[in-house]
Amino acid sequence: MTDAAAAPREAPAADPGAARPAAAGPAARRRVPARQGSLREHNLALVLRHVLDAAGAGASAGAPVAPPSRADVATATGLTRGAVSALVDLLIGARLVAELPPAATARAGRPAVPLVPASGTVVGLGAEVNVDYVGVRALDLAGRVLAHRETRGDYRHSDPVRVLGVLAALVGEVRAALPDGARLAGMCLALPGLVDRGTGPLRLAPNLGWRDVDVVALLAGHPEVDGLPVRLANEANLAARAEARAGAAGQSFLYVSGEVGIGAAIVLDGEVFAGRHGWSGELGHTVVDQQGPRCTCGARGCLEQYAGKDALLRAAGRDVDEPVEVLLAAAGAGDERTARALRSAGQALGVALANFVNLVDVEAVVLGGIYAPLAPWLTDAVVAQLRSRVLAAAWADARVGVATGGDHAAMDGAALVVLRAVADDPAAWLPAPAA
Ligand SMILES: [Zn+2]
Repeated sequence: MTDAAAAPREAPAADPGAARPAAAGPAARRRVPARQGSLREHNLALVLRHVLDAAGAGASAGAPVAPPSRADVATATGLTRGAVSALVDLLIGARLVAELPPAATARAGRPAVPLVPASGTVVGLGAEVNVDYVGVRALDLAGRVLAHRETRGDYRHSDPVRVLGVLAALVGEVRAALPDGARLAGMCLALPGLVDRGTGPLRLAPNLGWRDVDVVALLAGHPEVDGLPVRLANEANLAARAEARAGAAGQSFLYVSGEVGIGAAIVLDGEVFAGRHGWSGELGHTVVDQQGPRCTCGARGCLEQYAGKDALLRAAGRDVDEPVEVLLAAAGAGDERTARALRSAGQALGVALANFVNLVDVEAVVLGGIYAPLAPWLTDAVVAQLRSRVLAAAWADARVGVATGGDHAAMDGAALVVLRAVADDPAAWLPAPAA
């Protein structure tokens, strides 16, 4: 944030930030420590976080959660009602929060005005390059999908310049489809490989055949992306983020993203544990058989060669270009070869997952990507391996669940990363003071 952005925009009668510091909840702890003069920004973020979290909980919980009023926010944050009201007015002015019609209440006095995230105003772009598709999706703070473009193709051993050109064109289409007045906060791109979160470039995406590619620099050359802040992350880590938000899996789980490659992400207490470089969760390259077939990574017998999408299609007697729907149809029609292919992939996956659960004590394993629709044919084999191989299984079975984050979890998770940055620094979105 620049100093200009940090300067007070206006002088409300009671300076909301100066009232008193708010209780440091989890949202507050994620923030940068409050600097001199940034207390109001800190409290602004705290209030916004509360409104966003309530809407997120409402979206995922079975029973709907009522949007909070100003008084509810004051109670939850420990700020005074006057302070919260002034902060909420700023957030409404910045088009980050909106008011719903007042709710009828049994209590005397003015009816409470429910607060919700603003819709169609501030937008995060979530993009993905994977082995057989490229896509872009625009989400707003309310979690609404404003635009989505996707194109299928074969990007095995592809030229990054060409593929990123395809992506840039989709970004242009999505931007053109946004409602008037929508403001883009940035883009996060999900990639099926090792993204160095310290230094930025994609290190390795074995199935794309990309190594040490400066993706951000290549994208910046396209007018559709020019001027848009772009960050990169691993696709499984991003999909797990969407899954954690959907909330059905629990607090600590391993998310498995089955595609041509097999990514995974470790979620501990609701947060993705990406590891020191951001490289955790390469489940697809754990070993099933030392003497097994050669993998795209150069090693032998990786899980991917037994349970990845290409391996599954080959075992079922199909062409690797065919979509997962052909496997679903064949399995549904009782085709024995397909059923066998799925059972044996489930066994290999179960062995790898049992190794993981023996190392990291999680409550659940969540099957995502193509494994979500295929789960009815995979789960029994996975569960059998976990039961027989996980030492602690007799006392606490790791549940095997199916992802609820939808078909575009990595893109959704990527957009959420962008929107979270907005939520962490709402002061940057306040309207500039009148000259
Ligand atoms: Zn491998």
